[in-house]
Order: sequence, then C-alpha cells, then structure tokens
Amino acid sequence: MTNPQKYRYLFGPVASRRLKLSLGIDPLPFKTCSLDCVYCELGKTTDRTVKRQSFVPPREIIGELIQFLRTGNRPDCITISGSGEPTLHLDLEEIITEVKKITSIPLAVITNSTLLHDPKVRSALLPVDIVLPSLDAVTPGAFARVNRPHPALEVEQIISGLHEFREEFTGEIWLEILLVRGLNDQPEEVELLRDLSHSLRPDRVQLNTVARPGTEDSALPLADEHLQKLKEFFGPPAEIIAGSRHSPAKVQSESVEERILETASRRPVTAEEIAAGMGLEIKEAEKLLDRLQKEGKLIAKKHEKMEFWIANK
Ligand code: SF4
Repeated sequence: MTNPQKYRYLFGPVASRRLKLSLGIDPLPFKTCSLDCVYCELGKTTDRTVKRQSFVPPREIIGELIQFLRTGNRPDCITISGSGEPTLHLDLEEIITEVKKITSIPLAVITNSTLLHDPKVRSALLPVDIVLPSLDAVTPGAFARVNRPHPALEVEQIISGLHEFREEFTGEIWLEILLVRGLNDQPEEVELLRDLSHSLRPDRVQLNTVARPGTEDSALPLADEHLQKLKEFFGPPAEIIAGSRHSPAKVQSESVEERILETASRRPVTAEEIAAGMGLEIKEAEKLLDRLQKEGKLIAKKHEKMEFWIANK
C-alpha cells in the first residue's frame, strides 16, 4: 500500500546538536558530489561532478514541503543538505526563494564550499539564514588526500570563494573543519587552517573528526585530547562538534523497521541514535537491530570501540 505521507526529498526532522530539530531537504540523486571525501559516511561518490544541473524540479520539493508543513509539524530549522553537494543544483536559487516565501522557519544550507567561487551560487545563498560551509585543507596536498576532489577544483579558488561569500552574505556562517588522523592534522596544515578561519571571520568554527565509519576504513579520528588542544589553538569562536553533516532519516516512513533501514542506508548509526530518533527504549532498539541483522538487512561495524549499524545493500 502506498503511504501518502511518504516524501522523496524531505528527511527527518532529526535532532541535531548543531541545528536542533532539523527538517532536511535533499535536492540531488544519492552521492552526487564534487568531492569524494575519505570520511564520507554515505560511501563512495558515484557521480563526482562540478556541473550544475536541474536534478529535481523545484516545484516537487516545494510541494512536499507545503504538504509537510500542513501536518502542523514545526521543526526548528529547515536544512538543504542531503546526500551530496546541494549547490550543484542549478535551481538552488528558486528552491531557496520559494522556501523563504512559504515559511518563516530559519533556513540553513550545508555545503562543501567548492562552488562558492561561482557568483550565481553565492547569490542563490544570500537569503539563507545560516550557511555551513566546510573546508578541511588549505594546501593542495591535504585537499587531495582528504577530499579527493574533482580534477577541475583548486583549493585556492575555493578559499577565494569563501572570502567573497563572507563579504557578500549577511547571515551566519558556521565553518566546519573535519580533521583526519595523519591526513590533515599536521601542525603546518592546522596552522594554515587556523589563520584562514581568523581571516574569514565566521560566526562559528566547528572542529569535527571521523566520528563514524567513513568511505575508507583508513580514515581515523583525532583523539579527544588532540581536538581539545586544537580548539584552544584556534581560539574563539571554535567549538568541537562530533556528528554528521548529512540528514540521516526520511520523514514518516511506513514502519519503524523501514525507518531504521532508511536511516542506516544513509549513514552508520548507533543503537542509541536509533532509540532516540525513533522514540524507542534502548533495549527495544537493540532487539530490532539484532533481528534485522539476522535477516541479513543490516551489518554491524566497529569503529573506535563503538558499534555502528549499516544497511546491507
Ligand atoms: S562528506 Fe559531503 S562533501 Fe564529502 S564526499 Fe560526502 S557528500 Fe561530498
């Protein structure tokens, strides 16, 4: 039976430390991105591109949002992010303009910054309340090691785009820097990142590390003490976050089991997160996860002494 409440482009709402209860909009086909980060929780980039395209008609996304808002749900925030790089959507400006027309809920966009050198992308983002750009490297070597970019991308150009965006944008910028052990945590790289964060003047600098299994098993996190030291080194407004930049769960699926499988197909999740996200007791969540594993639908994977669950595709 088809569930009339099922959405194709909306995710969540999910409780996130950064954006509280956030409803996600995913305007792209799965893993369409300009980067192929070693730590990406969504797996390998299947379409690595820098070509902006009209992937999904804006009216379909807006139609779903109107339908969602009619249910009376009011998330703290609407976030355009999802399973790829949202600025690759050619009609991003139209999507943002329409969202702002139909609701006063704050709008955020999570971007990997690679297209900010394009004036059309920067102009599309101007009405947004919070932009969360990421930048994990300043030198081309570290950029290649961590982000495995499309060959047309140069990190210098991305940094110029970020600076230009800071000049033009009046909303909040929360810059995320994700550090991977041995790849971009060398003192020289970290110092360059710190200097860049100072010159960019973001409202927040959010230091992150590999908190969940990424695309490459070799992508390892920094130790907590190391991250703490780096927070001091960066100085205010740096803070430590440890979480995904992607929205994990689809809205109102047909059953808890289906929601678990959808969530685990988006990113690795812990039993605690499943319990919190689905409103279950931890024992109940563990039981369901065990059963789904026995049925061959989920696999368990250890990462830094924690157990994560991943959909067995
Ligand atoms: S982490 Fe984000 S930017 Fe990096 S490959 Fe995954 S979707 Fe793209």
